[in-house]
Amino acid sequence: MGLSQLALSIAESPTLKLNEEARVLREKGEAVIHLGIGEPKNKTPIPAVLSSAVRLNQGDVKYAPTDGLPSLKKAIIRYTEENYDKVVAPENVIVSSGAKQSIYNILYALLNPKDEVILMAPYWVSYPEMVRMCWGVPVIVTPEDGGFRPRMAEIERSVTSATKAIICNSPNNPSGMMFDEAFLGELVAFCEKKGIYLIMDDIYHKLIFDGRRLISAYKMTNKDLETSKLIVVNGVSKLYGMTGFRIGWTVAPRKTVEVMTNVQAQTTSCASPVMQAGAEGALNGLQSTIEALRLTMQNNRDVMMQELTSFTGVRCRKPDGTFYCLPDFSAYQKDSVALSQFLLKKAMVVTVPGKEFGMEGHLRLSYAGTVKDVTEGVARMKWALDPNAPSEIYIGDRKCVRDWL
Ligand code: PMP
Repeated sequence: MGLSQLALSIAESPTLKLNEEARVLREKGEAVIHLGIGEPKNKTPIPAVLSSAVRLNQGDVKYAPTDGLPSLKKAIIRYTEENYDKVVAPENVIVSSGAKQSIYNILYALLNPKDEVILMAPYWVSYPEMVRMCWGVPVIVTPEDGGFRPRMAEIERSVTSATKAIICNSPNNPSGMMFDEAFLGELVAFCEKKGIYLIMDDIYHKLIFDGRRLISAYKMTNKDLETSKLIVVNGVSKLYGMTGFRIGWTVAPRKTVEVMTNVQAQTTSCASPVMQAGAEGALNGLQSTIEALRLTMQNNRDVMMQELTSFTGVRCRKPDGTFYCLPDFSAYQKDSVALSQFLLKKAMVVTVPGKEFGMEGHLRLSYAGTVKDVTEGVARMKWALDPNAPSEIYIGDRKCVRDWL
């Protein structure tokens, strides 16, 4: 008997694969620069560490309620009120093992076989695969103007009677672009009119730059949570740099949360209470951690933009938030997978091919590392792609020889 056709068709996560490749190269002593990374370098915030440690010290590590520890849900309700200006009930909240699992459980709860989910390119790599894993059909809307945000008319044209949901990630992984209030307002109104679920992936929502203000999709609707089709996902991975805690959550209508809770009960039972305690510590602790991270990322973004501006032939839109940007390298090589492999082999710089995000010809570069990673990483890329540069350089002890693409 063979393996499941559906499971066999699911692609490997390209970002996790690249992380592994970079780790193996580093272990071999290679001076790899990881511009593919999707996590900040900060230490876990102290209140999160202490809160987890208390739980462990008490030896109180048993199953938690499926939808999350009541104390964490309380902290999430407060977070939602403070940041979204929305009062929600505990029955509207479910905690999962990372926002990734939150999104998967939402899709599992919403989709019937062949239901369509609209994704706007560039999109996060996991969306299409997760939709397919729930027997749905991803429908990609690619902006015709070559930009990073489709117009409403383009989204409207992609809607059919099978459209169940739209996923919106703002600011966006991989482009760093934030959707403005006018666009979000139109999107919310359109989804309400058509009875389509709007899933807001807000995982980066406070990592925004240049004085931009946080946007709450709840403000775009007069409907109450129970009658609206708005679902908001968030978590501690990006804002607090707590990727290894694996805690995310969903705020949704009660019935959706109820079904998601059944799905979670039959799969993972609950997120670890030790990690939930850590998330609670982060949410209840000093929020200056987020501001410190935001400022670091804004500074790194500025350095990255400065380096890319002087990169002949490369065009890049300045990110509004996150720790990514998505420059266009098509002047050098239209095949982003080939280009990414070339850069890893020749210059030992990890980048993520834009093709994985539905944007061929681009590379996703992360500035979540250090300023030195950014400057040296881009310098190496310039060397590898400049036909007039010296054909040999040393990276650490290793002689790197460039042959043209
Ligand atoms: N959504 C987006 C857009 C992301 O970039 C990520 C992480 N790379 C996630 C969701 C998942 O985050 P978590 O670590 O909470 O599972």
